[in-house]
Amino acid sequence: MHIELNKDVLYIIDTLKRHGHRADAVGGCVRDFLMGKPPFDIDITTSASPDEMKRIFADERTVETGIKHGTLTVVLHGTPYEVTTYRVDGEYADHRHPDEVIFTETLSEDLARRDFTVNAMCYSPDHGLTDLYGGREDLERGIIRAVGEAAKRFTEDALRILRGLRFSSTLGFEIEEKTAAAMRGCAHLLSFVSAERVLVEWRKLLGGKDARRILTQFSEVLAVAIPALSEIPVEDLPPLDDLNAEERMLLLFALLPKEVAAVRFEECALALRSDKASIRRGTEILSHLHDADLGTDESLSYLLHDLGEGGARAALSIRVRLRLCAPSRLVALEKWIEKRPCTALSDLAVDGKALAALGYRGRAIGDALQELLFAVMSGKVENRPDALLSYLGAVK
Ligand code: ATP
Ligand code: MG
Repeated sequence: MHIELNKDVLYIIDTLKRHGHRADAVGGCVRDFLMGKPPFDIDITTSASPDEMKRIFADERTVETGIKHGTLTVVLHGTPYEVTTYRVDGEYADHRHPDEVIFTETLSEDLARRDFTVNAMCYSPDHGLTDLYGGREDLERGIIRAVGEAAKRFTEDALRILRGLRFSSTLGFEIEEKTAAAMRGCAHLLSFVSAERVLVEWRKLLGGKDARRILTQFSEVLAVAIPALSEIPVEDLPPLDDLNAEERMLLLFALLPKEVAAVRFEECALALRSDKASIRRGTEILSHLHDADLGTDESLSYLLHDLGEGGARAALSIRVRLRLCAPSRLVALEKWIEKRPCTALSDLAVDGKALAALGYRGRAIGDALQELLFAVMSGKVENRPDALLSYLGAVK
């Protein structure tokens, strides 16, 4: 069993070893390496205490924000590596954060605190793969299984429920029976998970290849974190392939009655503290969903004007999935975008300065530009400076 670790990770492991400690790459990165995928980040677990790590890496660029929990971030060639002392988590009073962390010298205790068997393996060149919970077998068979007693682990930290659903969705793994039952039994504890953490897991879950399966099988569990799901008829969800996470979220809300779809989406996105731009875009897309036909290039221009390229694609993809318009309209949109139609003020062949030179002032400049834009979009005038200016002269 050999994993090709990069030079910086090997340097960290080696440096700790030279100081008499053991260090291994651990968790998600080992899972991803074994699946032949590049890991999202690389974490290292070590027998060195936080103070020892600080001394050992005193000459490197480090970040100490996690040091109370035993984590020193070592930055090598611009990449941060989280190096964490073996630890066990103390009591969990709030179903999310341990009241205290206890450092230990035993690797097996550190692996036991990890959430799922596929995330509880570690690897170093000296010791090879350490797999105390059958993680490799579960990885090969495609199973998400809690380490230890599932209900106890989800009661300690309810975020693990969402993480488990997320991994099942992104990796396409089945959730082992007892683990799944505990997720349902502990679902009410999801109300203890912060909006920020819910949003991160929810987006990853939605983007996963098996998102539809998780959404339909675990909608009541997810509804504790995303209350709108209890109203959405998820069983009506069409296939999600080729849609990104944002489009999938909007498609879910598009299953609601059209009068409430945009409002419910906005409430949900605000509660999850989504960024303002995606809330605005999503609300606009959902309010436009049942608009009149998009059969003409002119109507596509208006869609691009209102929603931008990404938004227009999302709106049409969702309409196609809901059979509100023909798939050929998506092809038409792409062809139309290639022609670089004029759909924004910045696409116009004249700008405010040109109008100021003609004597326009203040708000009249903006109004005239807007009028020109709509005239171009509806085919009344060509987007050339001379044509635009003479059009303005004629309508004035
Ligand atoms: P990703 O691919 O998103 O990075 P990951 O499994 O690596 O997934 P991280 O947040 O990077 O997730 O955490 C690294 C490791 O720390 C996990 O693989 C797991 O072993 C452990 N871990 C993370 N969060 C928890 C948790 N809430 N409870 C128990 N163990 C956890
Ligand atoms: Mg990770």
